[in-house]
Amino acid sequence: MKYDINNIFAKILRGEIPCKKIYENDYVLSFYDINPQKKIHALVIPKGSYVDLDDFIKNAKEKEIFEFFKALSHVANLLKVSNIEGGYRTLTNVGQNGGQEVPHLHFHIFGGEKVGKMVSN
Ligand code: AMP
Repeated sequence: MKYDINNIFAKILRGEIPCKKIYENDYVLSFYDINPQKKIHALVIPKGSYVDLDDFIKNAKEKEIFEFFKALSHVANLLKVSNIEGGYRTLTNVGQNGGQEVPHLHFHIFGGEKVGKMVSN
């Protein structure tokens, strides 16, 4: 799938629409989900243009991949949902069957309360 430069997260990265920022470095941006599904619901996205996890793993530099997953854990720690603080769930949706709505790779972080079943309808 070709990357759509007009997807909503690309617009956030370009500063064209606002976000409630949690963390940013040279490789990632993290912000709160606009429609939270749990008490804490954050998103972490790479700054590079990748449609989904498969695109990222195939085409990103190892440094980008390393920095992304390091930042994912860092954001969970910033949000105080680490294992010793109760724990959290992270997930990424890929494509139609995965329920992906925004075609720019993002990992969700859910926490602040029991997240519930792993998969629900
Ligand atoms: P997914 O279904 O995995 O693609 O998730 C997309 C997520 O992006 C949903 O949880 C939306 O609530 C969230 N979202 C959409 N637009 C925005 C926005 N402008 N700011 C923050 N989160 C957004």
